[in-house]
Amino acid sequence: MRFRIKLITVDEDGSERMHSVAELDRDSTLRLETTGLTLAEGKQILKHLQEVVVEEQVEGCVAQHRHCAICSKPLSTKGHHQIKLQTVFGNLQIRSPRLRCCPCSEGDRTKSFSPLAQVLTERSTPERLYLETLFASLLFPTGRRPNCLRSCCPRTSN
Ligand SMILES: [Zn+2]
Repeated sequence: MRFRIKLITVDEDGSERMHSVAELDRDSTLRLETTGLTLAEGKQILKHLQEVVVEEQVEGCVAQHRHCAICSKPLSTKGHHQIKLQTVFGNLQIRSPRLRCCPCSEGDRTKSFSPLAQVLTERSTPERLYLETLFASLLFPTGRRPNCLRSCCPRTSN
């Protein structure tokens, strides 16, 4: 038996994109050790799901800033840089474009900007920070903070 896990992105205009997340194979004979997902499979599926969701969110954010807010001309790309983001479901490397400001806004001293860097101002999501702090306070009240999420969440350390 084979299982295919797909994610469908639905835009505000109703258009859809399908992403393949994972495929699982199981014997047709039910056995205790192959019933349901393993921890490793669950972690891998969540990690890939997180990557696809964030990729779609990033594309949407960048698309919203691709045109000048004053004259609507498209903004050219000056380059890219990587943004590292730690989430509960894995650490991500996000390719972040730097966009040139439109000539119509030359009064503004800024010549370029990164839409993602303006939004992703921290390197960890609030939920990730909360869980790390909670686990650390429960397990290590002396203040030592090992990566406690490693055992239950996908790739939480780099
Ligand atoms: Zn403009």
